[in-house]
Amino acid sequence: MKIGIVGGGFMGLTLSHEIAKTNASVKVFESAAHMGGLSTHKDYGPFVWDRFYHVILPTDNYLIGLIEDLDLGDELCWRRSYTGYYVQKKFYSISSSKEFLLFPALNLWDKGMLAFTIFYGSKIKDWKKLEKITVKDWLIKMGGRATYEKFWSPLLLAKLGENHEKVSAVFIWTYIKRLFQARSSAAQKEHMGYLKGGYKTFFDTLQSNLSKKGSEIALNSAVQSVKANPEGGITIICNDKEEYFDKVIFTSPLNVLNKVANQSLFESSKPTAPVEYLGVICLVMITKKSLTPYYVLNIADKEIPFTGVIGMSSLVDLDQTANEHLTYFPKYVSANDAYWQKSDEELTSLFLEGVSKLYPDFDENDIVSTHLHKALKVQPLQVLNYSETIPDVQTKHKDFYILNTSQFVNDTLNNNSVVNHVQKFMTKFKTESNLH
Ligand SMILES: Cc1cc2nc3c(=O)[nH]c(=O)nc-3n(C[C@H](O)[C@H](O)[C@H](O)COP(=O)(O)OP(=O)(O)OC[C@H]3O[C@@H](n4cnc5c(N)ncnc54)[C@H](O)[C@@H]3O)c2cc1C
Repeated sequence: MKIGIVGGGFMGLTLSHEIAKTNASVKVFESAAHMGGLSTHKDYGPFVWDRFYHVILPTDNYLIGLIEDLDLGDELCWRRSYTGYYVQKKFYSISSSKEFLLFPALNLWDKGMLAFTIFYGSKIKDWKKLEKITVKDWLIKMGGRATYEKFWSPLLLAKLGENHEKVSAVFIWTYIKRLFQARSSAAQKEHMGYLKGGYKTFFDTLQSNLSKKGSEIALNSAVQSVKANPEGGITIICNDKEEYFDKVIFTSPLNVLNKVANQSLFESSKPTAPVEYLGVICLVMITKKSLTPYYVLNIADKEIPFTGVIGMSSLVDLDQTANEHLTYFPKYVSANDAYWQKSDEELTSLFLEGVSKLYPDFDENDIVSTHLHKALKVQPLQVLNYSETIPDVQTKHKDFYILNTSQFVNDTLNNNSVVNHVQKFMTKFKTESNLH
């Protein structure tokens, strides 16, 4: 059996790894020149690291299992990590329960309400109820307006921009679940992990395993069209060539699906609605000196043009980055945001001004290089009743499947969820397609 996969991001490649373990052969079509999509790498000159920042949490059991399956367990490194909050022009560490209790932006009552919201949120099992209420209404109901205004609202604005008003409470519930699990229960201290060499190590190993099994990843191969054959099976047209597959699994964002496949192929048995995605604009800076002790610094300040600082070098050993310091400055933006109209030069200088405001002692002579990275389709927005509007995995056509991050109805966007989604799919797919 021959299986085609559209999209060579983390989803498509994880899927190809699982399919290649069976008696089927697989071919992945990836439009870019590199594997990995949003998890791909970038050659920064003195070293190679992820284009966007990634960490692995100790609770990412599916992902860690896959890394071990690829014999890369020894390449996983765990380090203590720190979280900060920038508010009222000051930096605060909120990396332990004690620091959280000392956090001055909230009074004791507000902190109690916040702790209650997090504790209560982490115990909720029935997420479906949370789909019916906006995140704002739910957080105010749980923790009061003051805690919302002082703590949650800046964070939501940072993560979702103005869109946070229409997102459901599932969004914050998934964050509470994922991030607060990162604190090991024994020490109540955060630990995070990374793979030596970044995600490139993962993709290179996966590719070499695939080719040993006679399967293939075709780069620079944007799928132009996907057509159903009258006698069964699916034809993929790419680089003006037609190729037949018994089954095709589509893993790219939904806007691509609308472009390459006829609506009748993926029509759902239930009504779907267009899924809105947030994009990300991210300045990456390589410097001679360290900029931040935090892995994540959340920024609650409208004067700063980015919404967080990710101090990759606070986590990753310096020998991984040629003894230079790697920092990411992301801003999440909706598709119609004016930021997309700005040139890369304008965005870079805007973000650099923000760096100087945040770190007045920062000396521009310490910059080794800057890089601007953008991605338009990143985070599907979990609006009210989201799970009722997304496409099913099995389409009306028995040989065509959709498997992508828009289907994460009760999870944040992360690679652990991707592996979980793929493995659940494979259990059913193997039986249905008689793969062994
Ligand atoms: C800023 C940022 C930070 C993140 N941090 C973390 C983190 O710390 N931890 C974590 O676990 N996850 C993190 N993630 C999420 C992680 O990157 C995603 O879970 C993962 O990359 C999603 O993979 P995907 O394959 O579903 O989607 P994508 O990566 O979007 O893959 C889709 C692929 O389809 C390809 N494609 C598009 N059109 C076509 C076509 N016509 N033909 C063929 N191919 C096509 C694209 O080029 C792309 O490679 C982060 C993401 C971002 C953006």
